[in-house]
Amino acid sequence: MRKNDIVTVTIEDFGINGEGIGKTKGYTLFVKDTVIGDVAEVKVMKAKKNYGYGKLLKILKPSKDRVTPDCPVARQCGGCQIQMVSYDKQLEYKNRKVWNNLKHIGGIPEELLARVMEQPCGMKEPYRYRNKAQFPIGRDRNGKLAAGFYVGHTHQIIPCDDCLLGVKVNRKILDIILAFMERYQIEPYNEEQHRGLVRHILIRYGFATDEIMVCLVLNGRRLPHAEVLTGKLAGIPKMTSISVSINTEKTNVIMGKEIVTLWGQGYITDYIEDIKYQISPLSFYQVNPVQTGDLYRTALEYADLHGEETVWDVYCGIGTISLFLAQKAGRVYGVEIIPQTIEDAKRNAGINGILNAEFFTGKAEEVLPEYYKEYTPRHPGRKAEADVIVVDPPRKGCAESVLETMVRMRPRRIVYVSCDSATLARDLKYLRENGYELDRGKVVDMFPHTVHVETVCLLTKKAQ
Ligand code: SAH
Repeated sequence: MRKNDIVTVTIEDFGINGEGIGKTKGYTLFVKDTVIGDVAEVKVMKAKKNYGYGKLLKILKPSKDRVTPDCPVARQCGGCQIQMVSYDKQLEYKNRKVWNNLKHIGGIPEELLARVMEQPCGMKEPYRYRNKAQFPIGRDRNGKLAAGFYVGHTHQIIPCDDCLLGVKVNRKILDIILAFMERYQIEPYNEEQHRGLVRHILIRYGFATDEIMVCLVLNGRRLPHAEVLTGKLAGIPKMTSISVSINTEKTNVIMGKEIVTLWGQGYITDYIEDIKYQISPLSFYQVNPVQTGDLYRTALEYADLHGEETVWDVYCGIGTISLFLAQKAGRVYGVEIIPQTIEDAKRNAGINGILNAEFFTGKAEEVLPEYYKEYTPRHPGRKAEADVIVVDPPRKGCAESVLETMVRMRPRRIVYVSCDSATLARDLKYLRENGYELDRGKVVDMFPHTVHVETVCLLTKKAQ
């Protein structure tokens, strides 16, 4: 196979980024924008010894799982890698990906998976689920002011003010802001020249309260005629917070650290089930509130608490899972690396009147072993042991020292919430080799139309 060859490929699998994988004469090709079952004409763009990357030229025979994406710019945007696959099939594909990883990386026998894995939990309405949107502001190829997304690796914006994963009010807000910028000739930010003022618009929407937050990210400290803009935006029902974020750095990090509230409060309020959260522009908050409820309910059910237990929530973020657990546990300890996030966790515990949750700032791989060392030998009366440990690590999974300490703390149950099934599988292998068995598991689709998926697993201590 050589570069620029044109070949016919039948797509047989999905890669980790949602690209199609096909074979032609025993040679593997990765082809973006194709779906399992497609027969496609493909141009080879890069050829390595055993595999290569191809560009889709033409679909010769479409897969029966193919649908026309509802979003007209789905292909260019790249945010939804698999919107052209019917939602049922998306769910099937994600579930299979998790199973395959658990089986091949985790060494978990198929019979066990068949027994313990529950039906995957998908969304009834897999659109408009995101409570947070960040739109870059710039100019389209005709030089017109626009909100949308960057084309590939360029600085040009493809206009799209109605992302179908976001809420409808986003468009109205963007229209107001763009009209205001036109009227007062306020320049959008230009990354190449590091000039211009308005970089991004962040919009957050509380699904339970309808409260809206708008934050303009500026390459500067001041927004001229700000009162005119806030006057207009304040007319939108339930507008609650309007602010600017100052980001004058040459960086692709979206938000600046300094936030100035222009109108209303500095935060919006939202609920997941009965727990209330105050969310500021910089707070971490799950983006899909519908599925988050399901994920946390599942985690809580797996934890099987009766009111007396000592529970650890490791990688706790703003304490979302910790506060859920605290309602049913004796005591909950949360561990999280980012200090501001721990501030949010403590404040969230406070506004909900939750007194039995305590939070530690630091690396899980340091906090947990130190706590264990300190409390076990020196204070024999005090138990470092835990009844239940919940972990929700970032994609790289748990550090081995965390897994090791967890095993020493001898919890009856470990609930593992994961956003990367490959590292989940690796960690389950360790836990299964060290006295725990996989008892239940469920795939929860928090991010329809993308390749990402969450998995929650219950491990119980084997009888000795
Ligand atoms: N359970 C939370 C957030 C999970 S996201 C929720 O559902 O909202 C994973 C969290 O782990 C992030 O908040 C991240 O800041 C934190 N984190 C990353 N590395 C860490 C480490 N080494 N030790 C502790 N926390 C870490």
